[in-house]
Amino acid sequence: MRLEDFDTGISYQARVLSTQRITAAESRDEVREIVLEVEREEFDYQPGQSIGVIVSGDHPQGHKHHFRLYSVADTPQSSGSGKPRVTLCVKRCNYIDEYSGERYEGISSNYLCDRSVGDIVTINGPFGIPFAVPEDRETDLLLIGMGTGIAPFRALVRHLYEDVKDYKGKVRLFYGAQSGLEMLYMNEEKDDFSQYYDRETFEAFKALSPRPNWADPIAMDYALEERSEEILSMLDSPHARVYVAGRADILETLDRVFVHMIGSAEQWARRKAELKAGQRWVELVY
Ligand SMILES: Cc1cc2nc3c(=O)[nH]c(=O)nc-3n(C[C@H](O)[C@H](O)[C@H](O)COP(=O)(O)OP(=O)(O)OC[C@H]3O[C@@H](n4cnc5c(N)ncnc54)[C@H](O)[C@@H]3O)c2cc1C
Repeated sequence: MRLEDFDTGISYQARVLSTQRITAAESRDEVREIVLEVEREEFDYQPGQSIGVIVSGDHPQGHKHHFRLYSVADTPQSSGSGKPRVTLCVKRCNYIDEYSGERYEGISSNYLCDRSVGDIVTINGPFGIPFAVPEDRETDLLLIGMGTGIAPFRALVRHLYEDVKDYKGKVRLFYGAQSGLEMLYMNEEKDDFSQYYDRETFEAFKALSPRPNWADPIAMDYALEERSEEILSMLDSPHARVYVAGRADILETLDRVFVHMIGSAEQWARRKAELKAGQRWVELVY
């Protein structure tokens, strides 16, 4: 769905409760965890959904309201005042204009990253298809995230182990970043996933670029292929699900890896179509 097609008519005010840089100070990437308190009694959402952020004003691109989506990075919580809380994980985006060579600051991401505690932002939603928790609690889940694509999985893994509690399926999280400095929620600033490492069912794998300073592609292919036996046996089970989140270029890499693992492009195309038809392959990519 195109951004223009979202209904931005209804919006809510939200106050910034906290804002924290969660990438190391030495990292070129600034990613912030921003916690908002929504100024209404209810604001329900599920892992895998996104909320809209509306930045008003005259923007260089000519539109009055700049609207962008951000995945929820936590399960629904309420703050001390009982109002709903939403956690976002936002990367400050900057672009270089190909023709003028000028540096251009992404409107919404810079706006969010520049907010201070107590500031009010306008949000709407939630939007999108959630990463559903399967009814059968023994269903295996393969979670593949790139960059800020870790956000929905932080919410989902927390939901599985803290709300659902009796989840028995294997959960395998593959997380790709350019280097250890760009790792989110698995670094010195925040190490949220480590609390689940003692769960028998949970394992997380890091996929880093072999040469981080060369802007090489992130080694998601190696990370997955190293565990191909387990992944293939997960995919063979009639219920296992694959959830993918983050930068869209991961899809091409995944097709390549799975073709290699499964043996032929035709077999992978058939398998992927079956997974998608059964809503067992769900993508949240941008
Ligand atoms: C479902 C979904 C979930 C998402 N979840 C997250 C998330 O959890 N975390 C996160 O950080 N992001 C997330 N995103 C991405 C996010 O929505 C924004 O796309 C991102 O933050 C950039 O938006 P921006 O307003 O900062 O940049 P924009 O201002 O929108 O700039 C973006 C584009 O505009 C172009 N551009 C515009 N004007 C110029 C110019 N003058 N010169 C050169 N280029 C120009 C740039 O090339 C660039 O491609 C998600 C996206 C989707 C669709």
